[in-house]
Amino acid sequence: MKKVNKKLFRVFAAIFSLVFSLSAAFFNPQEASALTITYSKPASSIVLSALDSNSSYYSSYYTGTAVVSPAVKISASSGWSAKPLAGETLSTAPLSTASSSAQSSKVQKETIASGTKYATDLYIIKSDEPGPVVMIVGGVHGNEVAGYKAASIIKDYSIKKGTLLVLPEANKRAVEIGRRYVTGEGDLNRDFPQTSSDSPDGTLAKAIYNTVKKYDVDWLMDMHEGYDFYKNKSTDSVGQTLIYYPRGSTKEVASRIISELNKGISSSYKEFTLLRYPVKGSLARSTGQFLGVNSFIFETCSKQTLSTRIDYQLQAADIMLKELGMK
Ligand SMILES: [Zn+2]
Repeated sequence: MKKVNKKLFRVFAAIFSLVFSLSAAFFNPQEASALTITYSKPASSIVLSALDSNSSYYSSYYTGTAVVSPAVKISASSGWSAKPLAGETLSTAPLSTASSSAQSSKVQKETIASGTKYATDLYIIKSDEPGPVVMIVGGVHGNEVAGYKAASIIKDYSIKKGTLLVLPEANKRAVEIGRRYVTGEGDLNRDFPQTSSDSPDGTLAKAIYNTVKKYDVDWLMDMHEGYDFYKNKSTDSVGQTLIYYPRGSTKEVASRIISELNKGISSSYKEFTLLRYPVKGSLARSTGQFLGVNSFIFETCSKQTLSTRIDYQLQAADIMLKELGMK
């Protein structure tokens, strides 16, 4: 596949995935006569698309299983392709013969800060197998687009074990206006406890912090973006970094994410850097320090294309989920 096409596909996939999520009921994983499309080769940019009789699409990134209705035809028209990239495999099989433990995942939706102007949806993806509780958060800062776009794709994931919580638009009102925060309300990522006796400031930070406690979260990834590359020393930006709170095996998994991502980056200026200690008052810092969560902030750089940034966010989440045996 040509490079230009590949980029275009990624952009379209990101846009369409938002649309598809609205019609998720159409793709009922329990549908006995559904076709299952499996595809492999984890850390590369496969985009799978299907065209159904009503011209709806399904698309997905990376490895996994897509379940489509019997009416769906894989379409190579209109510039869309169901073919995997070179070196990857694509096969189709009836659902009954597909071996996918991921299909036992169940998704629930809960509204946090319900009944307030901060109300935002939390997706709870549960597997039948016991395992870690992972929380992925996007949109703490409303102008950091790649984070909430990636999280909105991840909310449709299936998992092999444990529980995956996804809060795609943590600060929904900031996301809606495309700003870091709503004027007059201050930075949400400074509202979390700064000492063990402190409590979160404001309705939204309280609701998010209480969610982490309620579900006894083991791992937390908070998706952010910097305005410049960390390696540009003339700015204080932390674009292209992973900032973790040191505890347990957080560093091990964080290092793995960085080294995997950097394998695909030829310019050392653009490589990801591993940093410690998220800023005080941040969600990652306070959950790491006071709730014993393996927490980190993942920062892409908004000087890169949106599709590249979404791709990095998804890859980082995927590497973490694979390390934890969930994907
Ligand atoms: Zn941010």
